[in-house]
Amino acid sequence: MHPIAIVHSPFPEKFSIPRQPGLAPAVTSTIVLTGDYDHQASIEGIEQHSHLWLVFEFHQHSSNQWKEKVRPPRLGGNKSVGVFATRSPFRPNNLGLSVVKLVAVKRSPTVELVVAGADLLDQTPIIDIKPYVPYVDCINSASSEFAGSQPEFLTVAYSERAAKQLDRYLPQTPELKQVIDQVLRQDPRPAYHKHSNHSRQYGSRLFNYDIRWVVNDKSLMVEEIKLFQP
Ligand code: SAM
Repeated sequence: MHPIAIVHSPFPEKFSIPRQPGLAPAVTSTIVLTGDYDHQASIEGIEQHSHLWLVFEFHQHSSNQWKEKVRPPRLGGNKSVGVFATRSPFRPNNLGLSVVKLVAVKRSPTVELVVAGADLLDQTPIIDIKPYVPYVDCINSASSEFAGSQPEFLTVAYSERAAKQLDRYLPQTPELKQVIDQVLRQDPRPAYHKHSNHSRQYGSRLFNYDIRWVVNDKSLMVEEIKLFQP
């Protein structure tokens, strides 16, 4: 297998990427078809579908990093289950599966699909694209004991300083506030940090910004937004 496309997303690093697609619908990503696949013919008719399945490679992981038992964040990070009972990104063949909303199709100079809600790192290789077909893919009676519903959101607020910084960057990145709100309300902290009392500051990279934030109980405060300096 080899990639047919590459993703451009606002997530230059893994920390803070939503744990599943659709949780941050304001996030748009662009799927750029590559090499032999960059032909309009291969996407003809794609607009007839509102949503697509993306099969992709967890390219930042190597296939020897997987373990038979994993501790899903949804179980608080302290209970383990079999890897095939989870959506863990550490898997024997490094393949991931995400459903996304098709927002726009660009045909030239390269074929590009703009999608909303992807949970993918920038530069993720796409192995295949298929339409989401509701009459088979949507199973109303389906259940999942430990991931049955969306986790509780945090409320997101901005310090006076961060609000001023945000205003400065909105003209160049109009979706910045919505993306910050939707990404950080998921509480990106690792499960084992959620029970500690430390008022520690975290840093998330979104687009080319470095976002600094703290959490107090169910409230997240954005303290600083600045351009990322390597
Ligand atoms: N929806 C997919 C699935 O179920 O196969 C992915 C679920 S996985 C829990 C989502 C996480 O994978 C993200 O939060 C991010 O940390 C990680 N991730 C996303 N893209 C990646 C990539 N290209 N390489 C490695 N990890 C990635």
